[in-house]
Amino acid sequence: MRRRMVAGNWKMHGTRASVAELIKGLSNMALPSGVEVAVFPPSLYISQVVDGLQGKSITVGAQNSAVQPEQGALTGEIAPSQLAEAGCELVLIGHSERRQIIGENDEVLNRKFAAAQACGLRPVLCVGETLEEREAGRTLEIVGRQLGSIIEQFGVAAFAKAVIAYEPVWAIGTGLTATPQQAQDVHAAIRAQLAAENPEVAQNVQLLYGGSVKAANAAELFGMPDIDGGLIGGASLNADEFGAICRAAGN
Ligand code: PEP
Repeated sequence: MRRRMVAGNWKMHGTRASVAELIKGLSNMALPSGVEVAVFPPSLYISQVVDGLQGKSITVGAQNSAVQPEQGALTGEIAPSQLAEAGCELVLIGHSERRQIIGENDEVLNRKFAAAQACGLRPVLCVGETLEEREAGRTLEIVGRQLGSIIEQFGVAAFAKAVIAYEPVWAIGTGLTATPQQAQDVHAAIRAQLAAENPEVAQNVQLLYGGSVKAANAAELFGMPDIDGGLIGGASLNADEFGAICRAAGN
């Protein structure tokens, strides 16, 4: 039985003071049982969040990690082993902002995925198409390629210890949400791609939807059979709104 999951990606937002406020809000939040709740603060605030959420059932993750597992000469990067030591359990790999703005390609992302797993972190692999690709009818091809890149290199068993987030690029931070059916169609295709290699891995992997999820649309999205929860950007910066989304996943 797959566990529901709701994860908040805080992106490059926050100050020590605003993070402290968010920790306070999250600490007072009523969490639904049976839902794994996670937050991904900017790296600078990971220790503050890990300390502040001690004793709460909220997992902390990083938004990025290095291509190699161990610390070393790699200026500006953070090793997954360092993130694990800091209390992280998860790491986002391949968020569209990193694919598009930073220029991370499948080869780099494969290395990050493997390095993270080597340190015991669970990667959350983000996949998704641009508006142009969707309009050209290439959604499943693009998502299939992004997923296939990991499968080809590490085998489908790598997803026994990973999460997948389908995030259509055109829906991220735009206020445009995929309809529940649009999201379900892609989630079903992702599960089918995994099932072709290993039905058990496909059945157990958590597939999150991300792209302008709010309390108002969460329940409908999470009601679809292959949507196991959400990766939430903007709405995760408001503890009340994020709490309502978490509760929608619990219903
Ligand atoms: C994201 O950044 O992963 C995301 C889904 O953002 P938003 O919810 O703001 O669209």
